[in-house]
Amino acid sequence: MTKLKIKIDGHEIETDDGGGSATILEAARLAGIHIPTLCHHPSLEAYGSCRLCTVQIVKNGRKKFVTACNYPVEDGLVVNTCTQEITGIRRMILELLLARCPQEKRLQENAREYGIIKPRFTLEDKNCILCGLCYRVCDELVGVSAINAQNRGVSRDVDTPYGQLSEDCIACGACALVCPTKSIRERKNIYPLSSVDIKEMEEEFLSGTIDNDLGVNRDMFAGKSSIEGQDGGMVTSILHRGIERGLLDAAVVAQINKSCGANAAFVDEMDQILQAKGTKYVRVSVIAPLLEALESGKRRIAVVGTPCQIRVVRKLQRQGYFNEKFPDAEIFLIGLFCFESFDYESLKSRMGELLGIDLNRAEKMQIAKGRFIVAVDGKGYSCRVRELEDAVRAGCGFCDDLVSRLADISIGSIGSAEGYSTVIVRSERGEKLLDAVQFDRKEINREEIVKLAAIKKKNADKNFAGIVAGLPERLEAERRERSISCELQ
Ligand code: SF4
Ligand code: SF4
Repeated sequence: MTKLKIKIDGHEIETDDGGGSATILEAARLAGIHIPTLCHHPSLEAYGSCRLCTVQIVKNGRKKFVTACNYPVEDGLVVNTCTQEITGIRRMILELLLARCPQEKRLQENAREYGIIKPRFTLEDKNCILCGLCYRVCDELVGVSAINAQNRGVSRDVDTPYGQLSEDCIACGACALVCPTKSIRERKNIYPLSSVDIKEMEEEFLSGTIDNDLGVNRDMFAGKSSIEGQDGGMVTSILHRGIERGLLDAAVVAQINKSCGANAAFVDEMDQILQAKGTKYVRVSVIAPLLEALESGKRRIAVVGTPCQIRVVRKLQRQGYFNEKFPDAEIFLIGLFCFESFDYESLKSRMGELLGIDLNRAEKMQIAKGRFIVAVDGKGYSCRVRELEDAVRAGCGFCDDLVSRLADISIGSIGSAEGYSTVIVRSERGEKLLDAVQFDRKEINREEIVKLAAIKKKNADKNFAGIVAGLPERLEAERRERSISCELQ
């Protein structure tokens, strides 16, 4: 990196060029000089959408207004951050934004700092200040791109494609963490959840002993059913007996479709349940088949899914989404243990490269002791899970839930002897389903599950730490501690 000398508001500053990427905003922050911004986050690509960080540069004797968040520093650059003209530009930006979102506290604070109490323009009643932080975090850091900016001018907003329920959102909550207003939390078609939401949903939907490591539970054991399935075959047995005994009308399950990869579908016949047995380790949206099942008249439906899928359905349940349209619907959530899931097409291609097999022909897949094991044409193949890193789905690193804490029953192989599944029963509804099943019961190795759950949480916490460190309130607190302020003109 090269050292540069620049001058901001008359202060001589020596700064790094950041390999060509350091900006005026960064250099000013490092020097403790405050430049306001609403759309900047240090972990995201500079965006320049709010334009509140407008400053004036003097180059070759000529003056020019630029946005400090994306203008690179260069040797000898002279920057003015608070001339009368700049203050005028910022006042106008804040006035327009405040007219759009008059109730937004952060905006009110910024506006007050510039002497604006009531904007001259017609007031609207919106709460999205169009900073773009939510969709940039979802895209650039989480990697999911469930939401994006839509439309132009006064109609500009943030939404999912066509405003539909998101099939991609994994309920990680990163967008809500960065949103400076309530806006993103109020959307009905994405599912950002905070730890407070999770706790509230546990209280609303589950009952039993509170286990800080593994979530609410009424019972935990290792089970082996008489039906042959993955490990102890417990998921297959619960669905099979549930349908057989009339407790369930249908189940939403993931399937490997030999012609088009993996998908979720609703099934209501015994042989379809048996065909869908076995963990798929892929994430496919369960919302569409669940709605399809409800629309076709099914009412008692089990949804089998990964922790993120379970969170999504719970969030919709909490909003009353299903019961508004189908008041007598009863949804049972069977959550799978999941450390990470894969993108089916990437997994298929990686398996082809590594093992020379066609995943579409897999009879069984299993992850055990760090290895991914596949059976094709009766023959076993395996590779280290680490070798499949590139096929892991975007977003898994932001999920801290190994054991599907919001499910009625959680099931997985971790913590059980070979041929058994660990079962965590979390609600009366889950107990009701399990009552129909006959199985052998053993003790689980709780510590093994807790250890892996802690690793998953630690990974997610690490990924979230970068987002938290760049939150405006954190940066604002730092600024107050060591800022050189200029007098607004
Ligand atoms: S929803 Fe929130 S984070 Fe997203 S653009 Fe609007 S104010 Fe910014
Ligand atoms: S909750 Fe996560 S995945 Fe969903 S929209 Fe927000 S950031 Fe994207």
